[in-house]
Amino acid sequence: MNKVALITGSTSGIGLGIAKQFAKNGYNIMFHGLESNGDEIASEIGKENNVKTVFSNANLIASDAVEQLVEDTIETFGRLDVLINNAGIQYVAPIDEFPNEKYETIIAINMNATFYASKAAWKYMKKQHFGRIINISSVHGLRASEFKTAYVTAKHGVIGMTKVLGLEGAPFNITCNAICPGYVRTPLVEKQIPDQAKSHSMSEEEVVTKVMLKKQAVKSFVPVEALADMALLLAKDSSSTITGSEFVLDGGWTAQ
Ligand code: NAD
Repeated sequence: MNKVALITGSTSGIGLGIAKQFAKNGYNIMFHGLESNGDEIASEIGKENNVKTVFSNANLIASDAVEQLVEDTIETFGRLDVLINNAGIQYVAPIDEFPNEKYETIIAINMNATFYASKAAWKYMKKQHFGRIINISSVHGLRASEFKTAYVTAKHGVIGMTKVLGLEGAPFNITCNAICPGYVRTPLVEKQIPDQAKSHSMSEEEVVTKVMLKKQAVKSFVPVEALADMALLLAKDSSSTITGSEFVLDGGWTAQ
C-alpha cells in the first residue's frame, strides 16, 4: 500500500522538489499551492511515477481552509502518513515601514497554518499509530536578518512548535521535525531580490553575493534535491526516534 503525503505549497520551489522525490519513492501525493497550473503539475508527476496525485488550491490564510485541506486528503486517499508544512511567503522592509497586514499574513501562512494542519492531521495519525510531520522552517528560524521581522518571528515559532509536537507525538509514533534551509533559488527568493536591493540600497547582483550568500560558508544556493532527500529520510519508518529536532542545510551559516 502506498503511503500518502500532503505537501503544502508543492506546486513551486522547495515543495515541488520534495513532492517529486516522494512521488519517485512511491508516495501518493496531495499537491497544494496557489499556482494556476497545479492540476497539470500534479497529474504529470502522478503519471510519470505511477502514483495517485490530487491538487488543492486551498488558501492557507484561513484556518478552516487549512483544516478542510487535511480532511480532503483523508477523504481522497483514506489516510495521511506524512504532512509537510512547506507553504510560505516573505516580505522585506524595515520595521517602521512594515505594513501590519503583511506581518499578519506572514504569521498566518508561515506559522499558524502549520498549527492548524498539524492539529487536523493529529487525530488520524494517532489512530494509525504512524505520522511524520515535517516543517520547513529556515535558517531564519535560528538566526535573524534585518528587515524580516515577520518571517524571522514565524520561522522561530515553527521551531518551537516542532519541539512541542515532537514531545506530544512520542507515545503515538508521530514524529515532528523541522528542516532549516539556507538560501534556495526559488521564486520566493527571486521575488525578494528587488526589495532587498531597495532596502539595502544595492544592485540586485550585490544582494545575491553580499547579502544572501554572505553568511553561508558555501557560496552557492542550497539545492532543492538536498532538502527533498532530507525530508524523505525523516518520513521513513526507521526514523521513529528522530523527533523534535531541526535539520540545518545552510552551507555552514549557523556554524559561525
Ligand atoms: P515558493 O514561492 O517557490 O513556493 C511557495 C509555495 O507556497 C507556493 O506553492 C505558493 O503557492 C504557496 N503559498 C503561498 N501562499 C499561500 C497561501 N496563502 N495559501 C496556500 N499556498 C500558499 O517558495 P519556496 O522558496 O519554495 O519556499 C517554500 C518554503 O521554504 C517556505 O516556507 C519558505 O519560507 C521556506 N524557505 C525557503 C528558502 C529559500 O531560500 N527559498 C529558505 C529557507 C526556507
